Amino acid sequence: MQIAEGIVMLELDLGSMTIHPTVLVDEDSWTLIDTGLPGSAAALLALAKQAGVGDRPLRAILLTHQDLDHIGGLPGILEETDGSAVVYAHPDDAGAINGTERLAKLSQERLDGFLQEWPEDVRSQFERTFLHPVRPNVDMMYKDGDTLPFGGGLTVIHTPGHTPGHVSLYHRASKTLIAGDATVARDGVLSGPNARVTPDMDMALASLGKLGQYDIEGVICYHGGWVQGGVNARFAALSEGKS
Ligand SMILES: [Zn+2]
Repeated sequence: MQIAEGIVMLELDLGSMTIHPTVLVDEDSWTLIDTGLPGSAAALLALAKQAGVGDRPLRAILLTHQDLDHIGGLPGILEETDGSAVVYAHPDDAGAINGTERLAKLSQERLDGFLQEWPEDVRSQFERTFLHPVRPNVDMMYKDGDTLPFGGGLTVIHTPGHTPGHVSLYHRASKTLIAGDATVARDGVLSGPNARVTPDMDMALASLGKLGQYDIEGVICYHGGWVQGGVNARFAALSEGKS
């Protein structure tokens, strides 16, 4: 779905969930925000092609946070593009993404289950990248308030709670918030992050209050897709504990 000039929300059905990574198209390159589950790189790149990235090189991969459904496609995407994309993450999640710390919400038991389930190529790619990496996966660290040049200008907003290093990205030209998992949508209605997978709900709701400082016309929820209208008022209500 084209949100505005140069910004497209993808919709990728992974069976267990439908996700909405964002693509930013600049004149001579493109940028991807979040990468899907392990094994989803090829499908995601096919959607990006349909979205109009053409033959441009992938210039940057912006990770909103460390969860598996956001970082899992990273090695596949680097392998299937020319591998030169610069990978961004927040320092508070970078250790987990770099494999020097555990992924916060993935127990050993669940990880073992996944490793048994995944096809051999996906499993070995995951092990090489996240369990026994030879180099850091994150090239650049975000700071709250940073401005990145992609898509004509993105503001980094640190929105901790769902994970310590969670960020949302504000696309100024279109007044679009790329929320990551700071908020989810159900039937077009925004709510706080999924409590079951949000270790610090109070902090997550405070982060929604912080988002209210931006003039937001629409939100891309990684889980739940596009929501438009009344966004700032909704975030204010949610941050005050009104659902
Ligand atoms: Zn997620």
